[in-house]
Amino acid sequence: MKPKSTKTAKLVGLIRPEVRALKAYRVDETPVRIKLDAMENPFSLPGSVQKQLASVLREVKINLYPDPSGKELKESIASLWKMDPDLMILGNGSDELIQAIILAFGGPVLVPVPTFAMYEITSRALAQPVVTVPLGEDFDLDAGTLIKKARQSKARVIFLASPNNPTGNRFSDKAVKKILDNTTAAVVIDEAYYSFSGKSWLPQLNKYPNMIILRTLSKIGFAGLRVGVLTASPGIVNELNKIRLPYNINSLSQAAGVSALKHRTVINRQISTLISERKKLYNVLSRMPGITAYPSETNFILLRTTSDASVIQKKMKGAGILIKDLNGPGPLKNCLRVTIGTPEENREFLRTLKTILDTA
Ligand code: PMP
Repeated sequence: MKPKSTKTAKLVGLIRPEVRALKAYRVDETPVRIKLDAMENPFSLPGSVQKQLASVLREVKINLYPDPSGKELKESIASLWKMDPDLMILGNGSDELIQAIILAFGGPVLVPVPTFAMYEITSRALAQPVVTVPLGEDFDLDAGTLIKKARQSKARVIFLASPNNPTGNRFSDKAVKKILDNTTAAVVIDEAYYSFSGKSWLPQLNKYPNMIILRTLSKIGFAGLRVGVLTASPGIVNELNKIRLPYNINSLSQAAGVSALKHRTVINRQISTLISERKKLYNVLSRMPGITAYPSETNFILLRTTSDASVIQKKMKGAGILIKDLNGPGPLKNCLRVTIGTPEENREFLRTLKTILDTA
């Protein structure tokens, strides 16, 4: 958007240059038939659960501020994921917790490439330097290079999304352990996709006081609630709590989260379906001519096409199916990311992709 007048232009000039230099995190808002671009859980809750949720929400006193620490929701999540509620901080999505970590520690912030874009965007917005380290073969971490760069740059925080977005793989335990053992920086292990891999660094929290674990309710069916969670050693939790905005989780999200998390069987069934759908989708995609599919421990699959991926993504969108175009120079050349949908959505995605590739 162009500024309207010289007066506005001058005002915009007052905004910190780091912010003006940023590119906004782009969300495609095109209305589509099948939305497979944002790692949402495609299943809604059964009618009886929705009714229960509605009656809980009716009682929420929205004239009052929410519980400032989200105690009850913390306890629900603690019981779901075997965390210590006293060592947890809730965020308005894990995005907010990423921001709190960078705000508290400051940079240099070290990130592997490619990874989740918000680590770099938020660091830049907060005027903190970013150091990047390319992922190695099979998109695993090159621990030696990463440790060296962290030392040389005096990195204060390292973000490791494992499983990683957008590559879909979980970083090898050996590489992560080597990094945890050989850096003085805080190591954030972002386990946003934990439920689809089932493997976690959480049991090692006592052993590594420099480790911070992030999780989110977004990928398991509650993206609209905006609830992320952080757990770390008491010293880190104490400091981060100082900069957390008061009342950052609204009362409707707190109440809905507590109510929804009571239905573990429903949630687990949806996750199992998505995992088995991922396997089916991967099997078909990895045999499809013109496509390389990367193994995934998440609720999405990274694809590389032999022809122009952006053209394919546009054609898919034209057919009413939205997937993420990651195409650009570098390691994601001709890459697309598809979220696992319902069985019907996945079949329709495969059918449409095949037609597009056949007629290219
Ligand atoms: N971490 C990773 C690795 C992600 O992929 C995402 C969402 N795409 C997030 C964090 C943010 O999740 P939320 O803010 O919805 O909790």
